[in-house]
Amino acid sequence: MIPVRSNHPIRIDLFSDTITRPTEAMRQAMAKAEVGDEQKGEDPSTNELVALTRELLGKEEAVFLPSGTMCNQIAYALHCRPGDAILVDESAHSLCHEETGAPALAGAMYRPIASDRGVFSVARLEAALRPEGRSSARNAVLSIEQPSNLGGGTCWTLEGITSVTKVARAHRIKTHMDGARLLNAVVSTGVSARDFCAPFDSVWLDLSKGLGAPVGAVLAGDTDFINEAWRLKQRWGGSMRQSGIVAAAGTFALRNNVDRLADDHANARLLAELLAVHPHISIDPLKVQTNIVLFDLVDFPVTAAVLVDRLLQKSGVRMGAFGPSTIRAVTHLDVDTGGVRLAAQALTELLDETYSMHVSKRSN
Ligand SMILES: *Cc1c(COP(=O)(O)O)cnc(C)c1O
Repeated sequence: MIPVRSNHPIRIDLFSDTITRPTEAMRQAMAKAEVGDEQKGEDPSTNELVALTRELLGKEEAVFLPSGTMCNQIAYALHCRPGDAILVDESAHSLCHEETGAPALAGAMYRPIASDRGVFSVARLEAALRPEGRSSARNAVLSIEQPSNLGGGTCWTLEGITSVTKVARAHRIKTHMDGARLLNAVVSTGVSARDFCAPFDSVWLDLSKGLGAPVGAVLAGDTDFINEAWRLKQRWGGSMRQSGIVAAAGTFALRNNVDRLADDHANARLLAELLAVHPHISIDPLKVQTNIVLFDLVDFPVTAAVLVDRLLQKSGVRMGAFGPSTIRAVTHLDVDTGGVRLAAQALTELLDETYSMHVSKRSN
């Protein structure tokens, strides 16, 4: 990911669903939140969020954490001993954007699994399972991302999850689900969060992505696991005080912002359809299952990074460059259908303009 800098006002921000800001109604809920000392278990609003999530995910216990990154890293540190391996798809956030986390904090290494848009088969998993011996790492945990972020929002099917976690259990490998956008997968597939979470020892969801809360994530598992997670939360400085102010935003989000994720998915599909007709864009709109639109520039004279920068400067539309010719656009509750249409128009016009400038330069 190449960070985009601009002095220009951003009018339509499709960089990520992390940019959502709390709505007035969410701020009201935050302002009214009852609070106490979270470290002592005395913050009623945090306790409410934890109970709600535990129920939603169908797990015995849960814990509120400052970020999804901390959820992944605490889980890895609990599932692994130093020298162990984490089996994870090659495009996973925990590998690509938290690369130093597990080696530094758990002493564990990532063992990437070749995947198709973030999803892999049993055969691929088995190919990554190297025989254990004194000189090789123990396969400690299988980590899957539901839906896959850098895989363009692709959802695992329940059958896919069942088959790979079964293999993991047969090898006594723990199972972890990075469910940063789990509820997007739930809304997209119609499978319940409980069903998706059932085969996993640890699961979490992020409140600060498409759900629209400002901060926070909830990690869930059985009671022993969460007790141990609290130990690391405390050690790593993740224990809080009057966290109910932000937890209330999470509760509000779970109560009000889940069903509307379908709107984001429809907008993402629309964006993909509007872009797919352009000769220099490669994307299959039918593969857009959630709110992430990942597309490639084809036979194009400038890189994705240059193009997204120009797009921002020229039209105030922000997208992200995720490779030399790959661009990511993410829909969320701060962008409506009109905004998506404008963004598609701005990008396709810029593509035409950039291409014809390049062609005329060549023929001069
Ligand atoms: C955003 C994200 C994370 C990290 O969550 P933060 O709350 O930003 O720390 C982890 N995994 C996936 C798939 C993500 O999209």
